Parts: sequence; structure tokens; C-alpha cells
Amino acid sequence: MTDQELAIKIRGLKKTYAADGASKPKEALKGVDLSIPRGSIFGLLGPNGAGKSTTINIIAGIVDKTAGSVEVWGFDIDKDIRNAKANIGIVPQEINFDVYFTPYEMLELYAGLYGIPKNERRSDEILEAMRLVEQRDAYTRFLSGGMKRRLLVGKAMVHNPPILVLDEPTAGVDVELRQHIWQYVRELNEKGVTIVLTTHYLEEAEELCDEIAIINHGELVICEKTPNLLKQLDEKMVVITPVNVINKVPQVLSDIGGKLNEEGDIVIHFSPSSITVGEILKKVSETDIEIADLKTEESDLEDIFLQLTKTIET
Ligand code: ADP
Ligand code: MG
Repeated sequence: MTDQELAIKIRGLKKTYAADGASKPKEALKGVDLSIPRGSIFGLLGPNGAGKSTTINIIAGIVDKTAGSVEVWGFDIDKDIRNAKANIGIVPQEINFDVYFTPYEMLELYAGLYGIPKNERRSDEILEAMRLVEQRDAYTRFLSGGMKRRLLVGKAMVHNPPILVLDEPTAGVDVELRQHIWQYVRELNEKGVTIVLTTHYLEEAEELCDEIAIINHGELVICEKTPNLLKQLDEKMVVITPVNVINKVPQVLSDIGGKLNEEGDIVIHFSPSSITVGEILKKVSETDIEIADLKTEESDLEDIFLQLTKTIET
């Protein structure tokens, strides 16, 4: 992929937070590379503390990086932060804004900060898209959590950026609102906006994203198109050691991908979603093979996921 096709290009990104009185220095990012294609919905997946927000905040120009480079829509944040910022809208993880403005005033204020002339502002259009027309002139402090989150998305869109970054858009929101946010994200993407979202829910990344990068402890674990990632997640292996040496895999087993290895074991790679170990054993029993030993092994990625899930739960 050429650089012109990338929305965001990150190379060797490192971040060490300085020590303060109570804590040691924290190496939050240990050299991360990411290539986020234009037009995609890209998911940055990882457990709490993985370094997702740090990555996002560096892209947004809110946190200083320790090393590495970041380009936003072709603009290096070190050389041209102005243009980098003009091409991106960030919806932060924390909801914090001045609650004494109305949604309309807030959008106007931010459009003003971006230097957008009054006749080019789209505040009412954004309110409509965010389903906040009725709340246009209400005080923001009276909005529900879901409305506030929608307003944050709207606020990130006042300058019509080609990239929208959402940091944990659905953390702590109810199922209904989550569906709402997903739908809106899809609509924006269909209009051509590149979406980057962080999440610690695999399910969310699976549902929404074309491509998923997993980070853990400040390192990139894997980055794949979603179907490829799921394929790898779904793969298991069973190794059958026959009592008697065989020199050919019986047809019923070669039909499901069975192959002989050097030790004379039958090795079968399979997807648990399409066949179970029990079904495989049933097929073995249809042959005259006597089983001396049987092992099942999971792919490495699944181990990674187990670890990820463990970290999330603790
Ligand atoms: P995530 O968003 O994936 O949950 P973060 O990027 O927020 O992860 O945090 C990554 C690591 O950096 C964590 O160990 C976190 O405690 C630490 N960290 C984040 N922000 C700061 C900060 N301002 N000062 C010191 N450490 C921080
Ligand atoms: Mg975070």
C-alpha cells in the first residue's frame, strides 16, 4: 500500500511517561508500527493499559511521543501539526466538556476554534445527524450520557475531517446505545470517513472493523483484515498417534485435512466452529486405526486471546 492510500502511518512509536513522586517511569508504547488505510474502519484492540489511548492521544497531538513518527493524511505531526490536526477529529475516552453551553453553542464554539467562517459552519446539520435537534438549545448538563457522547462525536466533526477517531466509544454504554453508535459509525464510513476506534471488546471490533490491530503491553501483537484474524483465531489442531504404523491417511480423515507427520502421527487442522473433536473421533472410529495417544492444540493467537481476556478480567 502506498503512503497516499494511508489515513494514518505510524512507525516505531514509543512513549515513556516520566516518573512522578509516587510512580516509576512507565513505558506505555515500545515501538509500534501501524498503517491505517483510507476509507477503512480500523480497530485498535487491547486490554486496559495496553497503550490504546496513549497512541490515540499522540496522534491527536495531546500527548508528546518519546520516539518514532506519525503521519496523519500525509502530514507529519512533527513538521505540520496544523494540517495533521485539520484532517482528524478525536472523540476522547473521557466525557468532559463545558456543561454550561447548549449543544448548538458548543458546536459553533469549536467551529470557531478551527477557524471555520460562519457561513461554512454545519452545526444544525451535525445536530441532526447526531439526533440532537430537540436538544439544540438545552443546557448540556441536562443531556443523558448517550446524548453527551453523541455531542462529543459531533464536536469532533465540526471541521469535516476525513478521519474520525473514537477512543472506547461504547465503554460503559448500554446495548441499545452501543447499536446506535455502531450504526452511526457505519453511516459516516459509507460517506467516506476513515474510522479508527479503540475497544477492549473483541466482539465490537469483529462486528465493525475491516481490519484489527491488537496491542498488549505497548506492543503490536498482530494486525490483520478481520476475516483473516478470525480464521486464525478459529484454528485448532488435533494430533492422533496410532498404535500401529500406518503409511497412508484413511480417506475419511484426509477428507477433513488429515496429514501424516514425520513421526507417523495424523495431524488435522480444523475450525471448532465447523467440526468438533468428537466428530473427528467418530470419523477415526470408522477406520481400523487404534489410538495410542491424542493431543489437541490451539493456535498461538488463541493463547494470546486467553491472556488478553485474563488481563481484562483482573
Ligand atoms: P489503554 O487506553 O489501552 O487502556 P493507556 O494508553 O491509557 O492504555 O495506558 C497505557 C499505560 O500507560 C498504562 O500502564 C497506564 O497506566 C500508563 N499511563 C497512561 N497515561 C499515563 C500518564 N499520564 N502518566 C503515567 N502513566 C500513564
Ligand atoms: Mg484507553
